[in-house]
Formats: sequence, C-alpha cells, structure tokens
Amino acid sequence: MVVVEETDPRFYVAESKLPGAGFGVFTKVKVNKGDFLEIIGVCVKFGGMADKCTHYANAYKFAAEPDGQFVHSLVPMGLGGIVNQANEKSQQNVAIMHLPETVRCDTCNGTCKVDNGTFIAVCGKCEGKGMMPRPKRNPHAIRVAYVAIRDIEPGEEVLGNYNKKLGQMAADGTSWTSEDQEEWDKFLKRKLYGLEVLTG
Ligand SMILES: [Zn+2]
Repeated sequence: MVVVEETDPRFYVAESKLPGAGFGVFTKVKVNKGDFLEIIGVCVKFGGMADKCTHYANAYKFAAEPDGQFVHSLVPMGLGGIVNQANEKSQQNVAIMHLPETVRCDTCNGTCKVDNGTFIAVCGKCEGKGMMPRPKRNPHAIRVAYVAIRDIEPGEEVLGNYNKKLGQMAADGTSWTSEDQEEWDKFLKRKLYGLEVLTG
C-alpha cells in the first residue's frame, strides 16, 4: 500500500486571496528565490487505464518524467496540487520547473571516476560515477517543482501562472525540448540560492 503524506513544514493551507479560488497555499516562513516546493503524489501511465480512471483529477495532473519523456502523469496529493494560478503575471511568485535527475555527488564532490576499469577515487556513495540521484525531500516527489521566482515573505500566498506550453506538452505527451532544458540549465548556472547542489 502506498501512503502519501505532505511533509514540507514551510507552508500552510488557507482560504485563497483570489476570489472564488477556494483554498490556497501560503508560506509560514520566508522562501528564498530559487528554493522550491516539491510536487508530490502518485504517478499513472499517460493514457493508461489508471490515467482514465483518475479523470476526476485531470485538471490537476502534472506531467511527470525522469528522462524528458512525459509518459507519466502525477495525481498531486500535496500542497502542489492546490497552488493557485495568479490572474496577473505580476502576482506570480513561483513557476513550474524541471529539476535535474542527478546531482554532483556530495561525498566526493564529483571527483569519483572510473578510468579504464580502474577506480581513480571511490567515495563509497556514488560508486565512481561522480553523480548521484538528486536527493528528494519527500519520497513521493517528482522532478517537476514549484520554484520561487522571487523571495516570498511569510504569509504570502504561493501563486503560479499557467504555463500553456508545458500544459500542452503534457496533454500531447510530447518530450521536454532541449530549449526548455537550456532555459533551466541557464537558471541553475546562476548558482544562486544554494541551488548549485543541483548542478552536475
Ligand atoms: Zn562520490
């Protein structure tokens, strides 16, 4: 049995400030630009029977995939599922972004390597790969996250903005393009806000 629980303590749920929007997500503490809220839930195969049987959640599903192919949809079960979308772009403080699948090994700092079958250095954690899976804060998180695009002060409502392009890609089951990946890589390269732990 899969038991899912939202465990991010930095947020709370309350009545949205947007008229008619129902509940929304608010910050308990300051969330710095570049930090992120993981989107957690359960994945179903895109177009599969479980996807069809969870049609009640279609308006809330996220495209979820580790390798750039959107072959799964995530039925959100945490805070990410009720983040509201701002009417005005200027109200937006988070954006849906794709986190990298692997990060530089934090034990050897990426120096572990295998050369001609010989280990040059082995930290014991990444087994000579120099890279390791990105640590998740919640085991039910996917690669897609709500990333803060500016500092968010305590008590502010977390507001996204519909990314029509990504939404369409998810609906079509098409791949993450290199252009999208470049955008994200560029963002990571700024090495801001402690996000450099995510870069390879
Ligand atoms: Zn290592």
